[in-house]
Amino acid sequence: MSLRSFFLTTACISLAAPAFAQEVNIYTTRQPALIQPVMDAFTAQTGIAVNLAFVSDGLVERLKAEGKRSPADLVMTVDIANLQQIVDADVIQPVDSGVLNAAIPANLRSENNLWFALTTRARIVYASRDRVADGEVTTYEDLASGKWQGRICTRSGLHNYNLALMSAVIAHKGEAGAKVWAEGVRANLARKPEGNDRAQVKAIWAGECDISLGNTYYMGEMLADPEQTAWAEAVRIIFPTFENGGTHVNVSGVAMTKAAPNREEALKLIEFLVSPIAQGIYAELNTEYPVLEGAPISDLVASWGSFTPDDVDLEDLAKNRPAALRIMEEVNFDG
Ligand code: FE
Repeated sequence: MSLRSFFLTTACISLAAPAFAQEVNIYTTRQPALIQPVMDAFTAQTGIAVNLAFVSDGLVERLKAEGKRSPADLVMTVDIANLQQIVDADVIQPVDSGVLNAAIPANLRSENNLWFALTTRARIVYASRDRVADGEVTTYEDLASGKWQGRICTRSGLHNYNLALMSAVIAHKGEAGAKVWAEGVRANLARKPEGNDRAQVKAIWAGECDISLGNTYYMGEMLADPEQTAWAEAVRIIFPTFENGGTHVNVSGVAMTKAAPNREEALKLIEFLVSPIAQGIYAELNTEYPVLEGAPISDLVASWGSFTPDDVDLEDLAKNRPAALRIMEEVNFDG
């Protein structure tokens, strides 16, 4: 049995077998191992069981097909594009909660209370420890400068992570400025975009390029994987900013389904997820940043340094996504 079908099978069984009087059912695109400990903490505190179903693909289609009969109360996923897709599919309901509004900055939750960020991750520069000096890269704009010619690696320009970054570029520089930027970065690529964020760090380790774009938590993932530790150790994290802004961040988030058979328990769980203890556990498990100000961050994450997150509204990034996609295609970023 593949790992994936194992998760799907066990998920179906756990959703069908209520062992507790009260429960919450979650569809998650995140690996259950990364969220189980925080759910265990919730169950220990409240006596409410949490059933996780790992849905790696087709989350929206599944919720649409199940409609009112869906057993899912909550959806947990990453990236503003996926959150916006759930909004657009009309499969979630608003949650009106003073607790959530107080804990989560306004730019990290939907204006209509449809989704709420639980953690953030910055999209940063991984820089070769040997070949890039301190202070050599400080802004996203700089990545388009000629001094990086043949030195940059990145995954596809059409990937959600890069489209969100490009959406932020549009927010700061307008579409025309963003196109010039994308052309400049493309001209600096050491190779055609291929592979994931970690593959770019591997390429730095192998000497193919000097800097790459990547999400912060991958540093934690690489350090935790014996085969990838050397890649991680070949680079350091640099937090670039926009010339008129901060460092680009994206989110993981949660939303309540329209069906939500256990609405009350689900609300308790979401509110628990923004409590200081849950924020600390959840962020540490994923080497991400809590959304709650003052919540603890892991020593590893703290060691990467501090940064000022860009304050562009995530919903504005979602609005800019079609233009970001069009520009990436126009400049033939991956070609
Ligand atoms: Fe990722």
